[in-house]
Amino acid sequence: MAEKIVKSDEEWRRDLTSEQYRVTREKGTEPPFTGAFLHIEEDGVFHCVCCGAPLFRSTAKYESGSGWPSFWEPVSADAIVETSDSSLSMVRTEVTCARCGAHLGHVFRDGPEPTGLRYCTNSVALRFAANEEDGTDGSAGAGGEGGA
Ligand SMILES: [Zn+2]
Repeated sequence: MAEKIVKSDEEWRRDLTSEQYRVTREKGTEPPFTGAFLHIEEDGVFHCVCCGAPLFRSTAKYESGSGWPSFWEPVSADAIVETSDSSLSMVRTEVTCARCGAHLGHVFRDGPEPTGLRYCTNSVALRFAANEEDGTDGSAGAGGEGGA
């Protein structure tokens, strides 16, 4: 079901803000303690800012103290792709959106139970949809095709 989204660099630059582009397409990192979603406490779902795919639920969000929004599990195992990243002479696991390849952050093994995982993500890579918005299919002007 998860149809891949492939766009040219030019298209991503056009569709994203420069900060969104820097983080999601160039594997950047937002400064800690600056993200819009760090302290959000509403119930809802965090979507990929690039393609809209659901990635994390607020019920799996927790306060890690790292300065970035942290989750202990993704919406589903196939929503994301984990890739070993050995840059900077440490081995980390990069987390990307399975649908469009957006860089989201990294996963570490110091998270809380039950998974013991910490998905450390950039707020700018995410878009939050509160639960109250559920069930309204025609969200204003959101990109075209691909219903529920
Ligand atoms: Zn995506």
